[in-house]
Amino acid sequence: MKLCKLIPVIAAAATLCGCGGQHMEQYQMFAMDTYVTLSGYCDRKTLEDAGEEVRRLEGLWSVNIESSDIARLNRDGSAELSAETAGLMSFTLSMSERTGGALDPTIYPVLREWGFTTDEHHVPDDDTIAELLENVGWEKVTLDGRSASLPVGTAVDAGAVAKGYAADIIAERLKSGGVTAGIVDLGGNVLTFGQKPDGSDWKVSVRDPFGDGAAGTLSVGECSVVTSGSYERYFEQDGVRYHHIIDPATGRPADTGLESVTVIAGESKLCDALSTALFVMGEDRAFDLWRESDDFEMIMITSDKRLLISEGIADRFEPDSKKKDYSAEVIRR
Ligand code: AMP
Ligand code: MG
Repeated sequence: MKLCKLIPVIAAAATLCGCGGQHMEQYQMFAMDTYVTLSGYCDRKTLEDAGEEVRRLEGLWSVNIESSDIARLNRDGSAELSAETAGLMSFTLSMSERTGGALDPTIYPVLREWGFTTDEHHVPDDDTIAELLENVGWEKVTLDGRSASLPVGTAVDAGAVAKGYAADIIAERLKSGGVTAGIVDLGGNVLTFGQKPDGSDWKVSVRDPFGDGAAGTLSVGECSVVTSGSYERYFEQDGVRYHHIIDPATGRPADTGLESVTVIAGESKLCDALSTALFVMGEDRAFDLWRESDDFEMIMITSDKRLLISEGIADRFEPDSKKKDYSAEVIRR
């Protein structure tokens, strides 16, 4: 498997110092609607500057910042994008195609109707959803270099890929600035780079969607680990829970018997795009896509507490022994 090189690496979210006397500096901020933690064997100023870059990217991509490239495109129907936004949109559309439309940035008007972009949640009626779905479809987006345009009624949101795309940019920036190792964590969208001074692996925990703590822990080399989960953003109405990952085929929260999908790959943007898309696709379609691919591994947690682990990552994933109600299954090619 080429994605997690056997370079012994670090531990996301946890052990951040005390390795051979070298100190891992950490900087935290709130951006892109989540807690961002940047860690590295470098001075604090380097991390603060990288944090400024996260802020700049948020300013380009947030649907809620009026001057952002994405907000301008949605408002005006066409826009000249920055190079970063054009790259993000181009990658997102390529992943829409690869996932058969399970990832679809044009789902935005539907998300907005459900209130997931404003936190004013409600369950839309069937007619409203059907009407909004007429304008949904990633093929409706025209992207020609940096020029983008949308038909009337169509709008986009890069939320499913933006954090991963940003993590790759930030890691590159830190590396080219001479940082030898570190962790870029954008709200659980984790990317590890370089080698820990003591040579040990990075440990990344996979959250237990049913309770506190972890369902298990990954020991990995330089790579990215990203989880999409139904527990991340949801509301309840009349005793029913509605989460934020929308199936573009129905305009409703994806109902595929999954609680979370964790994707492990070399690039964070790929992890982020796939974790959202595979959640929508459900276990059978997701493992079909995995079998015809060689650039990612995954761990799915189903609503009936099965841990489905793709074979390429199985020897690097340790289920939490205290969580006795889970059953673990390795999925083979
Ligand atoms: P993530 O946390 O990466 O799984 O992304 C979830 C976010 O992506 C949601 O909060 C929405 O903003 C957006 N989203 C939800 N469903 C989809 C979808 N099917 N395709 C693209 N973006 C989506
Ligand atoms: Mg995602």
